[in-house]
Order: sequence, then C-alpha cells, then structure tokens
Amino acid sequence: MTKRIVERLKNVDGLSDILPLSNPWYSHLRNVFSQTAENYGFTQIETPVIEQAWLYDSTFGTRENAPLIFLHEENDLGRSLALRPDGTPGILRSHIQHNLNNDGIASRYYYIEQMFRNEKPGKHSLKQFYQFGLESIDEDDATEDTIVLLAAYQYLSKLGIANDQFNLSINSVGCHLCQPKYIKTLNKYLADKTKGNLCSQCQNDCTTDPLRIFNCPQRSCSDILKSAPIPLDSLCDKCKNHFTQILEYLEETGIRFNIQTNLVRNLSYYHRTVFEFSTQFPSGDNYAIIGGGRYNRLANRLVGKEIPAVGLAVGVERLIQLMKSLRIRMKNPQKPIVFMIQLGSAARKKTFRIMQQVTAAGLATSSALSKSSLKSQLRYAAKVDARLAIIIGQREILDGTIILKDMISGGQETIDDNQYLSVIMERISG
Ligand SMILES: [Zn+2]
Ligand SMILES: [Zn+2]
Repeated sequence: MTKRIVERLKNVDGLSDILPLSNPWYSHLRNVFSQTAENYGFTQIETPVIEQAWLYDSTFGTRENAPLIFLHEENDLGRSLALRPDGTPGILRSHIQHNLNNDGIASRYYYIEQMFRNEKPGKHSLKQFYQFGLESIDEDDATEDTIVLLAAYQYLSKLGIANDQFNLSINSVGCHLCQPKYIKTLNKYLADKTKGNLCSQCQNDCTTDPLRIFNCPQRSCSDILKSAPIPLDSLCDKCKNHFTQILEYLEETGIRFNIQTNLVRNLSYYHRTVFEFSTQFPSGDNYAIIGGGRYNRLANRLVGKEIPAVGLAVGVERLIQLMKSLRIRMKNPQKPIVFMIQLGSAARKKTFRIMQQVTAAGLATSSALSKSSLKSQLRYAAKVDARLAIIIGQREILDGTIILKDMISGGQETIDDNQYLSVIMERISG
C-alpha cells in the first residue's frame, strides 16, 4: 500500500480497534461482569447511544465542562443531541420514562456499553471506551449501597485480583441538608487562610462546585486542603446513620476498606456515599478501577425532585491493563478448537456435514477449506492453537470414518462416523 492510502485508511484519532487478539479480554470481563451482576439481582438494560445533551449537564457540572460529542441535528423540540458520555443519566431517564418502579423495592440494572467523550487523544483518554456499570434506583436504604459494593468486590475477586491488590476507599459527602453547611465551613476555612494560593481552576470551583477542589492534582492545592474541615464532621444524623450502617454491613462481610475523608469524586450530584476501588500499578501509579456512589440528586435535573439511587462504573480498559500487568490469566480461556481438514472436493462436501454436527454439539471449529495440501491446513491449525483436527480424505469417505488428530501429542486415530463425536468430547474434557 502506498503511504497515501495508509494515511487515508487510518482510524480516527482517539478511537481504537479492538483486535481479535485483545477481544478475549473484553469478552472475559463482560462475561464475569454480567454473571456477577445477575448473581446480585441486577438485570441488563441497554439505552440508546444518542440522548439529549442536557441530560449530561449534571454529570459534568456545566455544559462548558462536558466533553460531549454533539450531533449536527437536533430533536423535534430543538434540543441538542449528543453521544452518550456516561451510562447513568440515560438509565435514570429510561427508568423514569417507562415507569419501571418495582413495587417499592430497588430496581437494579447493569449495563455493558460504549461511551463517547470529546477528550484530547492521549494515553489514558480515549474518545470511545467501554464502561460497565451497576445502577440501583428507588431505594435509599444503606443495604442497597452495600449490595453495590459487594458486587464490585466480588467482581474483582472473580477476575482473580487478590484482595490485597486493591483498596476500597469510602466516604460520605452528606445530603442536600448537611452538604451546604459543610461547603460554607469549607469556604470559610479557605477564605480565612489561603484561598489566594489555590490554582485558578480551584478558585473557580470554589464558587461553582467547591467539592471538586479535593481532586485537584496541584500540590499547592492539596497542601492547603490537608487541614481543611472534612465532610464527615458536618453530616446530619440521617447521613451519619446511613454511613455507619454501610460500614457495619461491610465489617460483617469481612471486606477490607478504609474511610478516606477527602474522597469526594468528580461528579457534583453525589449524595452521601462515595467510593473507589483503586490499585497500585507496577509503575507505582495509583488508579481507581471502579468508582461510584449514591446520586439521589441527579433526578432533580430530570424531574425536579430527588430519586434515591446508587451505582458504580468500571473502567474497563484500565482493568485490562491491570490484569495484564499482574500477569493474571483469564479463567475462561477460549473453547478448544476442532480444526476441519479436507483432502479433495468430495471430502470437502463431507467436511461441511461433519462441521454442522460438531458445531451443533457446542464445539468451536476453524478451517482453511480453500487450501488443498494437508501440510498447509495443519499449519493453520497450529496457528489458531487448535486442540484437535478432523481429517477427511478419499478413504474416509468410502469407509464412513474420520481421522482425529491430537494437535498436542500429534497422535491420530481413525473413528467411525457415528462415534467420533463422543470420542472428541472425551478428549476435550480429559
Ligand atoms: Zn445529611
Ligand atoms: Zn487546584
């Protein structure tokens, strides 16, 4: 290919292909996620990839802050449309729109979807990425926060990440009654002392969304915040009880956690519980791999009143990086492959019949049926790491048999047409 064609075909910056080599990681993480979510009573929901842009205003504080990818057209009310940058608002919208309340108990949803954000291309900021998430809507009780936390913990354990390789940090940021009081105390502290030394972003945030300043990466800002008042000290009785209950439930399960008093998370609608599962990568950097919290206030924006809800999101790409760097092997590797080999045009026809029987029995096959030599077909079998090969030649058609070749030992045997399936099953399970 010429350089010009190579340039012309390149995928869009910030987007990436999930190639067959990486795909088993994604499907493994997806499978374990849906199994774990279903084990905790969550059912899958899928919402459209395009929503009205205003739905995401509360996710990112303001429209200006929102990394939205807009569509050219608007909906029939003249409202802007955008690609989904986050799973939660669309699910809450769907829950309310379809009146999915569950007789006064929590409606639990999980999702496995791609998100789109207008991020500048960089190492850790893809414009399109996978997000898995859990959302529990309509229940304010601490039991529901606990279930979301237990499911996340179970997910990481089932992926083979040892308990001491991740850290659960939890905090409470209060409710619409006690959080404003806390923000007043915080602003007073900052005004009295060192507000002038905060970076310009934090000075802005002080007036619009003060809790965000806890996430500022600037050393000078975090130094100022070291002795700042913490949200826990301002909690009202209801918030205090809610938080204490979650901690008691977690203690009961033996899950290790730590209370991180300056954890606030970067979304302005959080209410009471916020948490993060983080881990240290071999590079020494500490990253959150799962984050979430209670977001009763998100519904304010949608319907003008609070709706209790709690959820989390998994950073899938980061989790795969982590598992690779910890050299964790997938527990469910691909199914063993039976490679179909034919020698001649009559044998090719019989191969199709055998292939139908093999796949109907739930086995995976692969083949290079356009090739004619045994040697080249065996080479392809080795390339896909086939466990067994079925070889059919002229003789096997006449005798009503097949040759079964063990690709590991190299041994082969001739088996009757009506017995080969049970022999394959035996070899594969053995
Ligand atoms: Zn409160
Ligand atoms: Zn700052």
